Amino acid sequence: MKNTYPSYYKKFTCIADKCPDTCCAGWAVVADSESLEKYKNTDGDFGNKIRSVIAVDEDGDTVFTPINNRCPFLLNSGLCEMYIELGHDSLCRTCRQYPRHITYFGARSETGISLSCPEAARLILQGDDPITFEEENTLDFPQPTDIDPDLYFTLLEARKKAIDILQCREFSICRRICAFLEFSDDISKDIRHFECGTIRSKLKKDYFLSEKSAYSQRRANGTTKKIFSDFRSLEMLDSSFADRLSNAESVDVSTFSDNKTDFEHLMVYFVFRYFMAAVFDRSLPIKSKFAAVSFIVIQKLCAAENADKERRTQIMQRFSKEVEHSASNMDFLNTTMKKSRCYSVRNLINLINSVQEK
Ligand code: SF4
Repeated sequence: MKNTYPSYYKKFTCIADKCPDTCCAGWAVVADSESLEKYKNTDGDFGNKIRSVIAVDEDGDTVFTPINNRCPFLLNSGLCEMYIELGHDSLCRTCRQYPRHITYFGARSETGISLSCPEAARLILQGDDPITFEEENTLDFPQPTDIDPDLYFTLLEARKKAIDILQCREFSICRRICAFLEFSDDISKDIRHFECGTIRSKLKKDYFLSEKSAYSQRRANGTTKKIFSDFRSLEMLDSSFADRLSNAESVDVSTFSDNKTDFEHLMVYFVFRYFMAAVFDRSLPIKSKFAAVSFIVIQKLCAAENADKERRTQIMQRFSKEVEHSASNMDFLNTTMKKSRCYSVRNLINLINSVQEK
């Protein structure tokens, strides 16, 4: 099997007790059936402890019941009691994998690390050079799939084009995001209709040439208001995140993101992680809009604090943990972005353009 991964992927190691925001609090860890089988036969007092905290939650998942909102195995030192007592292989699949994620496309796979982990966020965001990708052959067996091979390989080329647009440092990040949205919008219908030849012909087009259309400040304010109101209605792990969203809504962001490579890396992260999923559902717009809307919100959150690079990394990590890492929040945003005209590609392009025109 051939696996593709961003060049920072293999540098990741959990920093455990040095982590400023553990992944072992704020949510219940779901245990997989293979691990549960192992825990049934674990001897001694620690085996009894494991079995005493296993329960089925309201969603029907088997979880380690949190104590004071923390995993029952998270020690005050920040270390994992299960790891100390039984070693790495005893961890359930979620804990062994996080923050790594993997997507299978038949005989190919893609792996990455999630921005919701502080150490992963540091690796993803803090370099100055454009993010690059590597390939390796693995011993994993191909997974059964019914994806269309022509669409898959065409989308791979289209994603490369999208990443090239986002890494084109000749232009401001706002212009790059507008060109990326133009490109995604232009090929979305072709993806729906399997028009791979048309998509390929559009890979040669220059999306930086589009004319800007007039957009009133009043409409820009209305769109911003709707986006922030939707984000404030999400389920929050940390209630102060909603207050920060309120403070950021009316902040002026003109020029704030210029020459900040972390905003480029953020967009490339979203595109690497979500773009290729269009091969399964043939729906690109929601994935592109989510990336662009996340940029709009994060840019304001950062500008509200005039955040330096380290603080921006923390803000992006928090955003990912609150929004991207929550299935219910992602479902809500996907539905809202599909339904509301406020999230039309044209409207988002105009909003981002109106900021850079100021
Ligand atoms: S959030 Fe990341 S660095 Fe922190 S404990 Fe979890 S995996 Fe380790």
